[in-house]
Amino acid sequence: MTVSREFRLKSRPVGLPTTDNFEMATVDVPEPAAGEVQVRNLFMSLDPAMRGRMFDRKSYVPPYKLDEPLLGRAVGVVTASAADGFAPGDLVLSEYGWREIFNAPAAELTHHDPAGLPPQAVLGIAGLSGLTAYAGIVRIAQVKAVDTVFVSAASGAVGSAACVIAQHLGARVIGSAGGADKAAFLRDELRLDEVIDYKAVPNLTKALAAAAPQGIDVFFDNVGGDQLEAAIGIANPFARFAICGAISGYNATTPPTAPRNLMLIPSKRIRMEGYIAFDHEDLRPQFLADIARWHKAGTLVWRETVYEGIETAVDAFLGLFTGANIGKMLVKLS
Ligand code: NDP
Repeated sequence: MTVSREFRLKSRPVGLPTTDNFEMATVDVPEPAAGEVQVRNLFMSLDPAMRGRMFDRKSYVPPYKLDEPLLGRAVGVVTASAADGFAPGDLVLSEYGWREIFNAPAAELTHHDPAGLPPQAVLGIAGLSGLTAYAGIVRIAQVKAVDTVFVSAASGAVGSAACVIAQHLGARVIGSAGGADKAAFLRDELRLDEVIDYKAVPNLTKALAAAAPQGIDVFFDNVGGDQLEAAIGIANPFARFAICGAISGYNATTPPTAPRNLMLIPSKRIRMEGYIAFDHEDLRPQFLADIARWHKAGTLVWRETVYEGIETAVDAFLGLFTGANIGKMLVKLS
């Protein structure tokens, strides 16, 4: 018998979640039963989509249940096994985040080969965040070297990966993010062509027009709202918009005030396509080959913001909505 701590959803948030919506519990974890594996998590992923699962509504993933441990991607190490194919020391991926130690049926675990990257990269640049960016840039927007690409939430996990992938395709990349530290990251580490600190400019559309005097051909949107309005305003004819997320609305309790210029979409012949990364699993081998190639060449730039200990997990999650992260938001669990 060993002891683990886990977070549960205590109540469904209205608006921005608070710590009161969550509770931490300490549980006993028995020896794994036949066919089960015991795992000690190393890192867990925090994702804006977790907010969507806190509503009791139908979506592409089921809602979280009240008073049950939350779920999310995690990478861990096997500590005991009663299943064929898993041995202590193996690295595994699971959906059993938000907890320190757990037992799971072997069928719910995947062996993880870090392939020369840190093990937690599979939760960010080499995992869902990276694949999401890759699908949006390569398949949905079909970015080419001639394109000017605008990325919102550009310093985040998906946004920074979208910038890096578009740069590798030869495009001119403009990123927007909130605050001086994030702007410095985009300018000095990602080396974007133009950077907008949207919290420091009085008018985002004017700032984007100044950064893109020839207009934008592609918008990779993580935010919606004002960012989408600015992108529609500055878009060139036949621009392609990959609508990846709309985080500015995830906690909204009133209808959005932007975009107010949707009427420009037909006259500019803008093609706007929302998508979910899960539908683009077939791209994963090509994506992983490119990631490995760029990493070997020394041109793969990524960042992580790492909180320490399960007790910080709710703060890390809430930090996604206050902009506390540069790159992938993670909690190190052991
Ligand atoms: P990020 O690492 O980008 O973290 C969230 C960031 O969003 C914050 O750091 C903050 O950056 C920005 N943000 C938060 N609230 C607001 C707001 N009200 N207005 C403007 N910006 C805000 O998270 P991810 O990379 O994990 O996710 C980015 C987007 O991609 C999300 O919309 C997410 O839902 C979506 N997504 C979509 C997937 C798909 O399959 N379509 C899969 C995975 C993610 P700043 O300080 O710059 O404002």
